[in-house]
Amino acid sequence: MDFEYSSQVQQRRQRLEEFIDRFVLPYNAAWHRSVAQSVFPPPFMEDLKALAKSEGLWNLFLPGLRDDEPGERLSNLEYAPLAEIMGRLPWASEVFNCSAPDTGNMELLHLFATPEQYQRWLRPLLEGQIRSAFAMSEPDVASSDPTNLQTRMRHEGDELVLSGRKWFVTGAAHPSCRLLIVMCRSGDDELAKHARHSMLLVPMDTPGVKLERNIAIMQHHTPEGHCEIVFREVRVPVGNLLGQEGAGFAMAQARLGPGRVHHCMRTIGQCELALSLMCERTLERHLFGKYLSDFANVQEWIAESRLEIDQARLLVLRAAWRLDQGQAQREQARADVAAIKVVTARLQTRVVNRAMQVFGAMGLSPDTPLAYFWTWGRALQLLDGPDEVHLRSVARHELAQARDKRGATAAYFTLPEQLLAEPHIR
Ligand SMILES: Cc1cc2nc3c(=O)[nH]c(=O)nc-3n(C[C@H](O)[C@H](O)[C@H](O)COP(=O)(O)OP(=O)(O)OC[C@H]3O[C@@H](n4cnc5c(N)ncnc54)[C@H](O)[C@@H]3O)c2cc1C
Repeated sequence: MDFEYSSQVQQRRQRLEEFIDRFVLPYNAAWHRSVAQSVFPPPFMEDLKALAKSEGLWNLFLPGLRDDEPGERLSNLEYAPLAEIMGRLPWASEVFNCSAPDTGNMELLHLFATPEQYQRWLRPLLEGQIRSAFAMSEPDVASSDPTNLQTRMRHEGDELVLSGRKWFVTGAAHPSCRLLIVMCRSGDDELAKHARHSMLLVPMDTPGVKLERNIAIMQHHTPEGHCEIVFREVRVPVGNLLGQEGAGFAMAQARLGPGRVHHCMRTIGQCELALSLMCERTLERHLFGKYLSDFANVQEWIAESRLEIDQARLLVLRAAWRLDQGQAQREQARADVAAIKVVTARLQTRVVNRAMQVFGAMGLSPDTPLAYFWTWGRALQLLDGPDEVHLRSVARHELAQARDKRGATAAYFTLPEQLLAEPHIR
């Protein structure tokens, strides 16, 4: 097993790091100033995007890109270390057209769009001309179990009519957001539970679509938004149905795997930055006659953080590799993706929490990125499904394997013969 990144990946990492250091980071203060003045996206964003595109640092996330599509055709395993670098600066992904939720949406459209849908939505998304959002969760039902979703779609002539309420729709407040992919109920109770929902492509400016509010995530308002949206008798042509009617769940499965790897690697990037900040701070902060770095408990926090980050990264890279193996590793990949979602969200709150403590009061202020990182780690325990749902997937996978191998552990028992003969032991 070779643990080195390939030379190609190492080169790309270096190019990406240099690009961010030279062209993106110098704008960080200006980005925050601009957002504080409600100018979003900041005026320099389009220039940065054009530069990244011309440098071949564009659409790095989509393995299946065709020859005539802009981007780099990297595998999940090749892209993951690049997502880690972008994650250090939360707004950086947009520069490279690698932001969530567009990445997952592009992947979905890449797999299922009709030629017309491709031209209208996917092509502009791949070019970075528009943004998109994915509307699934609803305030009125427990959305951890998406079979609950109630937003309703019905046929009327050659139109589809949509009614319902969604919330926490990430990206919907971005001024360039033109497309909502809406998961909605289209079938009746007699259908199997997982065949009742469909995905509908809804242009943001369709009459009846109302963005009610951008919901703060623990006091942080993100400019691209986590929005509550009402759909009142929204009419779109039948051609706006994505994939087959009733195939919403099957398509959602296809969307979430790589997207979760991206989230997890960005998280690892943020944890690495938090650890660097923590180390630097401990080397210069002096109290009770010594530096913070001299205290045993602080050294332990640093060491624990290093161990935990490295463990998590290996797990995420394995998940990325398994996704690249396709059908052959499908079940294993699914369990891995569920596992990394839990591991990295917990990692982020733990590592960042230690860093905040090291920084004292400043750690809770907006003067460092730590408070935002912690909030995001906390949000990760819910977004794309809460930890409990993913833990259940991991447990089910483990139990299925145990069921297949039932009895294989019998030889490890050292019970007397007569007890081993009992059927319940076998
Ligand atoms: C920052 C952020 C961004 C988001 N972006 C989007 C987006 O772009 N699009 C979108 O559609 N949604 C988005 N969401 C919503 C997110 O996907 C949902 O919040 C999540 O799926 C949980 O659904 P819920 O909030 O309805 O919680 P509920 O379903 O009401 O669950 C409540 C709690 O029940 C427990 N629980 C659930 N299932 C189990 C189980 N199997 N076993 C044990 N306990 C369980 C968990 O503790 C869970 O937190 C976002 C959320 C956040 C915080």
